[in-house]
Amino acid sequence: MPLIALHTTTNMHTLANFINGQYQAPRAGRYLDNYAPATGQLSGKIPDSDEQDVALAVEAAKKAFPAWAAIAPERRYEILRGIAEGIEARLDELAAAESSDSGKTITTARTVDIPRAALNFRFFATALLHFAAESHYRAGESLSYTLRQPLGVVGCISPWNLPLYLFTWKIAPALAAGNCVVAKPSEVTPLTAYLLGDICNAAGLPPGVLNILHGNGPGAGQAIVQHPEIKAISFTGSTRAGAEIARVAAPMFKKLSLELGGKNPNLIFADCDYEKMLDTTVRSSFNNQGQICLCGSRVYVEHSLYERFRGDFVAAVQQLKQGDPANPEHRLGAVVSKMHFDKVLSYIQLAQEEGGKVLCGGQALQLPGELAGGWYIAPTVIEGLPANCRTNQEEIFGPVVTIQPFDSEAEALALANSTEYGLSATVWTNNLRRAQFLSENLQAGIVWVNTWMLRDLRTPFGGVKNSGVGREGGWEAMRFFTETKNVTLAL
Ligand code: NAD
Repeated sequence: MPLIALHTTTNMHTLANFINGQYQAPRAGRYLDNYAPATGQLSGKIPDSDEQDVALAVEAAKKAFPAWAAIAPERRYEILRGIAEGIEARLDELAAAESSDSGKTITTARTVDIPRAALNFRFFATALLHFAAESHYRAGESLSYTLRQPLGVVGCISPWNLPLYLFTWKIAPALAAGNCVVAKPSEVTPLTAYLLGDICNAAGLPPGVLNILHGNGPGAGQAIVQHPEIKAISFTGSTRAGAEIARVAAPMFKKLSLELGGKNPNLIFADCDYEKMLDTTVRSSFNNQGQICLCGSRVYVEHSLYERFRGDFVAAVQQLKQGDPANPEHRLGAVVSKMHFDKVLSYIQLAQEEGGKVLCGGQALQLPGELAGGWYIAPTVIEGLPANCRTNQEEIFGPVVTIQPFDSEAEALALANSTEYGLSATVWTNNLRRAQFLSENLQAGIVWVNTWMLRDLRTPFGGVKNSGVGREGGWEAMRFFTETKNVTLAL
């Protein structure tokens, strides 16, 4: 396999698709450019796959399916656990690849992305051993039982912000439930998905069970969604692409799981545990350069605490070390692409046109030397914007948050629920009644009280409104990746 190097234009990689257990070039011989966000330089080429490659992958997956679906659960468990161990054994290499490909800091890649990718396989390996279905008994009349059978070949499509983490969050339950998979990582961050094929081979995953194709949305992505033999699509990405996928897949009656965009509120009440809130709010605003679907981008603070919070928050944000993602000291690296860099900066401009005041950040960072061409944006805090302006309504997905005071619980709730999105919400209060009332009434699939991004992989994960349809995690994922059949015996 080609060398994967940090920040270098001399060791350019040319990636291949992973089909039927083998690395192979795209049929049409077309490639897309891959860039390193830290430098803005070309880092390599990735396959621009199309329907021909998808057809090959589906053929391989169909051939592998009967044996994989019938394999003893203990053996399937061992293979998936072996993949987790393979990821752990290659932590350094995978973290370096993830950081170089996405601009995230090496520390984030080492401590969040790659360990979680391993945990996804470990978690669903054990889940398959315990997965069970219901029975319904009516004495003297009937016994009904539920079969939950694998679907066959399924499609998994993932975004660039947590590349291997979200790619494996889909693939692991799909495989655990007995399906074969055709998967596509984001064309912006293909490296770790590319390495996963080799890890799967080493763990003894039979050829064709997992096929990894590279390419863009309109090409490889759409070809996966449209393929009639692919029975379900598990997608994480933008609301725009999710709507497009639903338009194609829904009339084909495919199962669909759509994890989409967010504009998450962070509600801070004066009675909260202040230091913990402040520290966590810095993280929930700017971890991974604000490019986590769960980041709180609208920070609402109770009036009596607002002045104090504003001063402390801005001071803490200004202390964040930003720069070369390969430096373990840095808390912020680069945003993922030139296109995204331009988009985030255009929103900072828009915020000012809408009357917002930039309290810190507000511009690109110019770094010296080989980092000069990188896509760095200083963490930005803006105040003074109305709730209904575009800056507060549209997903920016970068290191930009707005802060605003509120006077009452009712106002906080109305502000929180005022967008088309509904992925997650965070509430900071020590008032139990209020925490419970808000949790019931917030329009979000996930509510955190006095914490953020504390994950238990058994819990349902997903959004409401324009943030998506369906839930991932635990049994929700195992059920999504199986077909339910009821059998009734007369007694
Ligand atoms: P994106 O929608 O542009 O792309 C996501 C993936 O879908 C990529 O692999 C892309 O190639 C593919 N794709 C795009 N159009 C497609 C189409 N028509 N058919 C099939 N595949 C297609 O999203 P992105 O820019 O990579 O990621 C950022 C977005 O992802 C943000 O909106 C963010 O909120 C969202 N996100 C959501 C969650 C969640 O759990 N809800 C998690 C992470 C990211």
